[in-house]
Amino acid sequence: MAWHEKILRVDLIKGTCTAEAMNMDWAEQYLGARGLASKYLAEEMDPGADALSPGNVLIFATGPLTGTTAATGGRYVVVTKGALTGAIACSNSGGQWGGELRLAGWDMVVITGKSEKPVYLHIDDDNAELRDADDFIWGKSVWDTEAALKERHGDQRMRIASIGRAGETLNRYACVVNDLDRAAGRSGVGAVMGAKNLKSIAVRGTKGVAVRDPAGFEAAVRAARAKLDPSPDRAGLAKTGTISMLDITQAFGSLPTRNNRDVQFEDADKVGAAAMSATRRTDGSKNLINGKACFSCTIGCGRVSKLDPTHFSAKSGERYKNASGGLEYESAYALAPMVGVDDIEAATFANQVCNEEGMDPISFGATLSAAMELYETGAISDKETDGLKLHFGSAEALVESVKLAGLGKGFGADLGLGAKRLCEKYSQPDFAMVVKGQEFPGYDGRSMQGMALAYATSNRGACHLKADPYGDDFGGGPLEGKAKIVYESQNAVAAVDSAGICLFPMSVWDLNDVAAQVDAACGGSWSAERMAEMGERIWNLERLFNLAAGLTSKDDTLPKRILTEKLKSGTGKGKVAELGKMLPAYYELRGWDNEGVPTTQTLQRLSLT
Ligand code: SF4
Repeated sequence: MAWHEKILRVDLIKGTCTAEAMNMDWAEQYLGARGLASKYLAEEMDPGADALSPGNVLIFATGPLTGTTAATGGRYVVVTKGALTGAIACSNSGGQWGGELRLAGWDMVVITGKSEKPVYLHIDDDNAELRDADDFIWGKSVWDTEAALKERHGDQRMRIASIGRAGETLNRYACVVNDLDRAAGRSGVGAVMGAKNLKSIAVRGTKGVAVRDPAGFEAAVRAARAKLDPSPDRAGLAKTGTISMLDITQAFGSLPTRNNRDVQFEDADKVGAAAMSATRRTDGSKNLINGKACFSCTIGCGRVSKLDPTHFSAKSGERYKNASGGLEYESAYALAPMVGVDDIEAATFANQVCNEEGMDPISFGATLSAAMELYETGAISDKETDGLKLHFGSAEALVESVKLAGLGKGFGADLGLGAKRLCEKYSQPDFAMVVKGQEFPGYDGRSMQGMALAYATSNRGACHLKADPYGDDFGGGPLEGKAKIVYESQNAVAAVDSAGICLFPMSVWDLNDVAAQVDAACGGSWSAERMAEMGERIWNLERLFNLAAGLTSKDDTLPKRILTEKLKSGTGKGKVAELGKMLPAYYELRGWDNEGVPTTQTLQRLSLT
């Protein structure tokens, strides 16, 4: 129960959609979403296959709590081999789409092969079929695709996940956008979808999600909500969203600025939470007009913004003057301090285009930042940029670049390579702030040493959502304790990601709260200990996939800048990332050898042999 025990298998070569029983032995070991989808991926694809080849497998997966009343129980993941990284990718999204897939009666959609012509997948409860996308949505943005699909099917309540033109043009950090502004954002999962000629998955579900013990489940959900709902953490996220983190990283000195050449931005106050809520002189309105919540979420950290209609970027089209998904911390960092831009309206516009065309704003901003360093150091010039003046701080460059990258046109095609490939192309690989080819999120690892280790060891490349070293880093915890904190939190996060809920309640909950809800929903004696062990199993399964794909311990590293250039300001002034002091302890805790390979003993302990 809680699981439907049913997956939808889509063969894009044959053009078939088939219902299949879910492997419940695997569900016992990997639960759902991230864990179970990773197991299917590892079993079904050759890790050595090119991410953009038909041999890649693309999986949309929910967890057993997705679609239930569990707080934040609306998450789904996209698991595949990442187009940006060549490593296993697990991109997590909220909104309403994941809940709708569960209401339609499916736990997962497993997509193989490549369609000869562009198609979309239409799911209406038990019925699923591939339809021609060529005649009306291929070549359209995410926003226009959503409108066209709803009109064609005469159903304004269907939920849609799509790629934009970035995915169609194989931008390496293209994402999958659902519900217009929520995204499975990282690692280029949208490029994989584009390479398969799959434009959208439109879902309508009218069924419920049954749980094993309805009374027990209600009690567990109520107990978890009783902790979460009155908490200051929930209230803070509801009030200001995640962008309030910008004030913290600015004060601490971990806010990546101008391609991590600095970690404090002199104009941070112009692009943070206060600026978002300030009344504009121009039109008397505010950038932020509302908050919003994903399916079954009692936090509601999402932002709804309205661009200043007098801003120069608003001339790009009437559509940009409408209310739309606003800046979160990660998009704000990447589209403002990272590119040195102090204009919150320009950053808001760039964020809108990322949603509209299906691009990860973190990777786009960090790639543009690398391009700006290439430009300012003379490694590229107007000749390569088609006349774009890529100076740090240029709002005009940000606005023009995001439009070009979204369409893959002109220098936008270069920007679509991602920072690693771009910097290698122009012979400056050290300018790329990446791990395993994936651009940094909004934390500098020199003042946050735990985050440095988390970035270096993340299976999907640099990531702020696969470990939880925040409290210890901001609290000034000693270097010796970092490996244990990263190791344990990576396992816990993998377990939570597999349940189908968001990570944000975990500042208030612990694994006992999650296990109680999972156990009442599914049965099987789930406990905090079993969840943690499962998380460790998932982490090692992902690691094995990456090793088989050709990654090695050499990929558990950080850019030269982070390892050798001392911070100029902030609490970490004078420091570099001490990865060499943390990594051996981390490998030991993981039960890996000196080359970062899980030992036989570790694999046996986790039932991975
Ligand atoms: S906390 Fe925010 S991201 Fe998480 S489910 Fe709620 S609204 Fe969505």
